[in-house]
Amino acid sequence: MNGAVAAQPKVAIVGAGSVGATLAYACLIKGAGKTVALYDLNADKTRAEVLDLNHGLQFVPTANVMGSDDIEVCRDADVVVITAGAKQKPGQTRLDLAEANVNMCRTLVPGLLEVAPDAILLLVTNPVDVLTYAALKFSGLPSRRVFGTGTVLDSSRLRVLIAQRADVAVRSVHAYIAGEHGDSEIPLWSSATIGAVPLLAWDATAGARLDDGARQEIMAGVVNAAEEIIRGKGATNYAIGLAGARVVEAIIHDEKAVLPVTSLLDDYIGISDVCLSLPSIVGRAGVHTVLPVPLSGDEAAGLRQSADTVRGVIHEVGL
Ligand code: NAD
Repeated sequence: MNGAVAAQPKVAIVGAGSVGATLAYACLIKGAGKTVALYDLNADKTRAEVLDLNHGLQFVPTANVMGSDDIEVCRDADVVVITAGAKQKPGQTRLDLAEANVNMCRTLVPGLLEVAPDAILLLVTNPVDVLTYAALKFSGLPSRRVFGTGTVLDSSRLRVLIAQRADVAVRSVHAYIAGEHGDSEIPLWSSATIGAVPLLAWDATAGARLDDGARQEIMAGVVNAAEEIIRGKGATNYAIGLAGARVVEAIIHDEKAVLPVTSLLDDYIGISDVCLSLPSIVGRAGVHTVLPVPLSGDEAAGLRQSADTVRGVIHEVGL
């Protein structure tokens, strides 16, 4: 990977389950990738998803879709998105999933690199911060080439809830969740804005106030979102599909977009050797820069606590 933009970019998606299939669908609609390849151990499910996606090709930017239970289907991919593995059951935390999914990556990641040695690896499988760290170790790749969707989804949930309260368009809200994609994640209120107005200075002129109580309710909504959706329909797929496709798009089109992906931190306010989400510049070479975001004292403390939480799991699974 030398940062060159492939003329016919290929996106391989590992796992054709709820998340993988929806991510493929979102990539097709967005035109992220001329070839979208699905790889899953379940041959029948993969064949069915590929057929169904193929039947929609008339309605999306030109692309082709392929799939197989043979890892060869991922050959020469520019981006490999890993969505395979066990998922959260009701009442289970993302961190409970760590051991099984880390073990899956031990063989999966080297196998993927054999067929797609120049790929960027994008992790979605949970717990995504731990899995990103594991994939980095198992691949031996430079850290900029191995990262995860992290809190791109959580930040989107945050923006939706702020937008609803403030009665403004979601796209006019600029706010990030940092840290773990999980219970220890922290909202970066001090740098959040609505339009050009600092969120902490937002008043009721255009909508409801975003005072302390409102912000706590918003965060409870963000943290409990996955659990609520999983209770109702067994999996979350649409928003993570769109979030993942958004990151793929930023890589393939070399956008240098600022997205809160999870990547290896190296002395970020003293935090090192753990993968966490922070607003980062993402393009064809991967994570270009983790931005030095101004943090309040509470936010910095929250980020350090989140690092300890994720590091604890990394040690528990023996990485
Ligand atoms: P799913 O059970 O529907 O699909 C998982 C698929 O992985 C299955 O089709 C299975 O056959 C396949 N698989 C398992 N091991 C494999 C291997 N070694 N190689 C190839 N394929 C393999 O699950 P899902 O709902 O799609 O969720 C997938 C993962 O994504 C879970 O870990 C879930 O927690 C995670 N997830 C992450 C986020 C996020 O924001 N990071 C959001 C939603 C879900």
